[in-house]
Amino acid sequence: MDYITDSFSHRGHFGKFGGRYVPEMLIPALEALEQAYLQARDDKKFQDEFLHLLRTYSGRPTPLYFAANLSKQLGGARIYLKQEGLGQTGSHKVNNVIGQALLARRMGKKRVVAETGAGQHGLATATVAARFGFECEIFMGELDMARQRPNVFWMQQLGATVTPVTYGTRTLKDAVNESIKNWIENLEDTHLLVGSALSAHPYPSMVRDFQSVIGREVREQIMEAEGRLPDCLVACVGGGSNSIGLFHPFLNEDSVEMVGVEAGGFGIPSGLHSARFQGGRLGIIEGYKSYFLTDEDGQTRTTHSVAAGLDYAGIGPEHAWLHDQGRVTYTNVTDKETLAALGLLMRTEGIIPALESSHAVAEAIKRAPKTGRDKIMVVNLSGRGDKDIFIVAEALRDKEWLDFLERKVQEGFPDDEK
Ligand SMILES: *Cc1c(COP(=O)(O)O)cnc(C)c1O
Repeated sequence: MDYITDSFSHRGHFGKFGGRYVPEMLIPALEALEQAYLQARDDKKFQDEFLHLLRTYSGRPTPLYFAANLSKQLGGARIYLKQEGLGQTGSHKVNNVIGQALLARRMGKKRVVAETGAGQHGLATATVAARFGFECEIFMGELDMARQRPNVFWMQQLGATVTPVTYGTRTLKDAVNESIKNWIENLEDTHLLVGSALSAHPYPSMVRDFQSVIGREVREQIMEAEGRLPDCLVACVGGGSNSIGLFHPFLNEDSVEMVGVEAGGFGIPSGLHSARFQGGRLGIIEGYKSYFLTDEDGQTRTTHSVAAGLDYAGIGPEHAWLHDQGRVTYTNVTDKETLAALGLLMRTEGIIPALESSHAVAEAIKRAPKTGRDKIMVVNLSGRGDKDIFIVAEALRDKEWLDFLERKVQEGFPDDEK
């Protein structure tokens, strides 16, 4: 079967999922974006500039590293790590923001707006806005701003305006609404820079295309290292962009198994998780049709994950379709398993993965011992873990870290005058 659907000729539909469910007044803007993207996609100059920037600004291609120590310890498959965390801003998000920034400039836009939850997408957007000279406004829930001060700090230093959203749950979903509202009010000069492979058409397909550089590189790199395709690909799934970017170039290779890892939080029975395929319901929210974790009234439910980037009630429509087709297996790991995986990868390989990526590592740790040593597994390390220092130190109850924070507060800013 052909799993590489031409979503553009199906108006953004992946089977019954996806589409474009937005207020009438947004349709012309989405159509203009789609047309501009399709032209850019087929324009060699655009693609060359995209790849050039990824190379010179973000250090692509990112390495595919054979984790010999981890593989040996687990006693099964040969595990390779795709090191997306080595790119600019420390995650795969840069691939998408560079692509959309180039497109926004091509469309003559002067301003970009974006939503952000944990702040990682906001940070990546603020970075390229500085690079391209765009005015930049990032909408962020008031609660998220309080929780993610380091990202807020850097976004502001990069020249972005970070606008708190003070209504509703004061988290990501309200920030999404606010960024769309702002886009509607400023369609003439503004591009809405969506952060994952979701939202209304053409975003899911466009973001997937920009992120597919990950899978294309892996194909070349594994052929060079092993002379054959991998047996299994593993990636974490928040909105779904790093995973679809890895999976997509392999979808029609029947021999390649694919595993998407959702956030199991405190465990599925607790209800405090972000695993959409564990009780998520079909719905139309934020402009697209997919599975969402919702309550009785059809409103998105409060979700939880130790990894802020996976803490989201919806999932990109292509994943919903791949799930129902049975092409990709979706599983989940808990916060606890995630922290254990982070510890093991740090100590065996000297690599600090992001908490999101640690979900994929945790799944690899479960699977590898059950596979033969002749098997090849590729795990996407979507990001590096420096950003998570506050969360990890808290989760590990690191007393010396707390002492450090208290001491800093007491010291205040050193006064040069004294
Ligand atoms: C944002 C983020 C994710 C989750 O987003 P996807 O769109 O599912 O890839 C995963 N890993 C890292 C490091 C992130 O910053």
